[in-house]
Amino acid sequence: MGTYIIALDQGTTSSRALLVDGQGKMQGLAQQEFKQLYPKSGWVEHDPMEILGTQLGVLKKLIKDKDIALKDIKAIGITNQRETTVVWDKITGKPVYNAIVWQDKRTAAICEDLKRKGLTEHVRKTTGLVIDSYFSGTKVKWILDNVSGARARADQGTLLMGTIDSWLVWNMSANKNHVTDYTNASRTMIYDIVNLKWDKKMLAALDIPKSMLPIVRPSTYHFGEYETEGVKIPITGIAGDQQAALFGQGCFTKGTAKNTYGTGCFTLMNTGEEPRFSKNGLLTTIAYGLDRKIHYALEGSIFIAGAAIQWLRDGLELIKDAKETETLANSLEGESSVYVVPAFAGLGAPYWDMYARGAIFGLTRDTGKAHLAKATLESLAYRTKDILKAMEEDSSIQMKSLRVDGGACANNYLMQFQADILDTEVHRPEVIESTAMGAAFLAGIQIGLWTLSDIDQNRLMDRIFSPTFDRIKRKRLYGNWKKAVERTKGWEGN
Ligand code: ADP
Repeated sequence: MGTYIIALDQGTTSSRALLVDGQGKMQGLAQQEFKQLYPKSGWVEHDPMEILGTQLGVLKKLIKDKDIALKDIKAIGITNQRETTVVWDKITGKPVYNAIVWQDKRTAAICEDLKRKGLTEHVRKTTGLVIDSYFSGTKVKWILDNVSGARARADQGTLLMGTIDSWLVWNMSANKNHVTDYTNASRTMIYDIVNLKWDKKMLAALDIPKSMLPIVRPSTYHFGEYETEGVKIPITGIAGDQQAALFGQGCFTKGTAKNTYGTGCFTLMNTGEEPRFSKNGLLTTIAYGLDRKIHYALEGSIFIAGAAIQWLRDGLELIKDAKETETLANSLEGESSVYVVPAFAGLGAPYWDMYARGAIFGLTRDTGKAHLAKATLESLAYRTKDILKAMEEDSSIQMKSLRVDGGACANNYLMQFQADILDTEVHRPEVIESTAMGAAFLAGIQIGLWTLSDIDQNRLMDRIFSPTFDRIKRKRLYGNWKKAVERTKGWEGN
């Protein structure tokens, strides 16, 4: 007899299921990709039935592959691609349209209209967000306005909306429970994260009937039951992917932060029980809710991070594999004068300059590919410092340590440089599946399997990188970086 939790990780390109044992150790994984639909330029959709099918498919495959008795699965936790939105009919259970994915830009005009109506400050103070097509609210409006008959059915109260967690729970609970959690609600642009309720003003501005909305619960809650082969498994944890990763990294106290080094970087810092609003264009979001206790986070993202390493490989053809950057960087001794600012698509927080473009500075006759590789790696660390500094400024909270995950965190040179330039320890865990682990932890807490301190004590570190630079060196290098950034600003269109 065993005790297991299953984490469902419903991502943007694949559905995954992870098996976690009673000690919090990962014991297996099943994964399946699904189709990305691009009906028009700037539009991105998923088929909600395929999302459901692949998610339940990997769940069943994992149970079969690992030969687990259903009764030993004590709970299910869900983490999901955030903001992606489904509208479905509560009688037939059928979606009225494909899921509109977070990347989809079709609602840009609706966003402009909200800005013209003067809602920018209201959105920032109430939902913690900036008005953008990224978030769910305008996607719901688009479906109601554009799918034949949808508006009338919504007004009659037969349509429901939800982010992917809601869609999964609704189906897994045999159409009984229409719920979501605080973290997912906080990405809709229609949820008041201060007073913890759907925001009437935004619902009116977007013409979304209240009857469509899920009930919002803490991230640990009895969300429903998934019945299979006569066994009922409770669904007891939900969090959006970035918040789940923060939780999976054990960032439970004010000032703890995580950074995910993927194609882009996602940086979140736990700011405690009071929301902190940003002056630097960062987002305020709910990190998690345990019972009625809410922890908030500041969130920033870097558009081009690992993508800059891909540019070295595919654009410049300087390397064959991302890993080579580490050897190249280590082949140089001492400081290099070269700085790469990978502002390929403008600069995000805290600069917000869409006219900035990438540049290389400090070239000399002896500059070679090792210098470029090293400077590109360092740019990821500098951009991360930009964001974390803005978070510290916005929250008046000092960051305690940075916990890392994502593909590029495997790079030891990058991680050491990150610790050096931040003057903070960088913690790389043994299991870098932080997102799924976060969902499993939330589910396990709800059924009394673990406490926060158990999770904290059991987290295994692969390596801790300690800072080595003195203050003068750190200031000099970061000063050079800021000078380089200044010179990339406003390039396009000038
Ligand atoms: P995503 O989930 O965004 O697809 P991953 O977390 O899988 O990204 O990380 C892949 C990214 O990390 C790629 O952009 C790749 O260039 C970069 N990367 C992977 N391994 C390394 C490495 N050892 N050093 C530097 N960058 C790396």
